[in-house]
Amino acid sequence: MTVILPGATIGLLGGGQLGRMTGYAARSLGYDVHVLDPDPTCPARAIASRVITGSFRDAAAAADLARGVGVVTLEIEQIGPDALAAVSQFAPLRPPADAIITVQDRIRQRTWLDRGGFPLGPWRAIDSAASATEAVGALGRSVMKTPVGGYDGRGQARVGSAGEAAGAWESLGRGPLLVEQFLDLELELSVLVARCEDGRMATYAPAVNHHVAGVLDWSIWPAELPPDVSHQAMRVAEGIAERMGIVGLLAVEMFLVTDGRLLVNELAPRPHNSYHHSERGASTSQFEQFVRAVCGLPLGSVDALRPAAIANLLGDLWEGTDPDFANALTIPDVRLHLYGKAAARPGRKMGHLSAVGESTEVALGKVLAARSRMVKQG
Ligand code: ATP
Ligand code: MG
Repeated sequence: MTVILPGATIGLLGGGQLGRMTGYAARSLGYDVHVLDPDPTCPARAIASRVITGSFRDAAAAADLARGVGVVTLEIEQIGPDALAAVSQFAPLRPPADAIITVQDRIRQRTWLDRGGFPLGPWRAIDSAASATEAVGALGRSVMKTPVGGYDGRGQARVGSAGEAAGAWESLGRGPLLVEQFLDLELELSVLVARCEDGRMATYAPAVNHHVAGVLDWSIWPAELPPDVSHQAMRVAEGIAERMGIVGLLAVEMFLVTDGRLLVNELAPRPHNSYHHSERGASTSQFEQFVRAVCGLPLGSVDALRPAAIANLLGDLWEGTDPDFANALTIPDVRLHLYGKAAARPGRKMGHLSAVGESTEVALGKVLAARSRMVKQG
């Protein structure tokens, strides 16, 4: 295993907020950071000594990034196969290209999980109005999801019955779709696994996540779940990370269904919004752990130091005028994390608030109170 020591440069495919926060951790550990992103004003520009402006399908730009660094990793999985291959010619790519390619298409990802025997809710892959109608007829109330490029609930349609399936297939672009049975959720959780090339792993206890309209709204950690549920969730996530040969981080989103089943929702081979509280509550933040895993350093402790919570700040809060940042910070323990995005649009993740407390409820109460204090009156 090649160990990339502090002093070296890390190449990041993607310069969004996850890249920016990874960059802070990398800088703190003594690494330099170069970034490839289509947007020269991307959030990670703040921490990168070099930003290459190029598309994630541009093999020449990816090769340019890889030539100048000791290792390349990513903060977004939608990187073209040619760009991934180009990186691998010049620098170690962690996680490996085949893991990234498996995850980037929802249908390919589900097929892979199914073959591995990992627990999933009922689903079908469809590619026509007729097959959509048949699938929803068999599954009942469903969620139809575009296989590539959707995030924060985009590219999805919820359908109540088979009669709505053809219309939803049309509205989602008449292409292949993943159709999942709509599950009656007790709660949503996630597990984060860090894994090195030599197989060493460190697994964070589960987080409980609350979504509104398909977008993460808040998350708390460590989750107070029945011990057998936590244990099972962590073993499933580790099994996936091992089988997939992850190097870096793997976030596994899961559903706990009201009938007691614990099912995998989806995978992300990178830092994840639902572990931002690890910067406050954990001995090692997800961003530092990511850098350690990708560079082959010893992994840090995943112990919980304090119960912690985060609440996301979406662009809606910027409507009309900037939110009242100072007022949010009148609650001691609350920290403001802004991603440096110039344009606020409804639904766009602009930042988050984090807090710690005696319990996850207390920490959550603080971030939610701080968020409501951000709304300017009048
Ligand atoms: P993100 O980028 O925020 O992770 P996404 O766009 O990739 O989200 P999913 O994770 O597939 O989309 O779905 C978003 C949310 O929609 C889930 O967290 C859950 O709240 C709800 N959801 C998705 N699939 C189902 C399902 N089969 N049954 C019930 N709820 C679902
Ligand atoms: Mg999701």
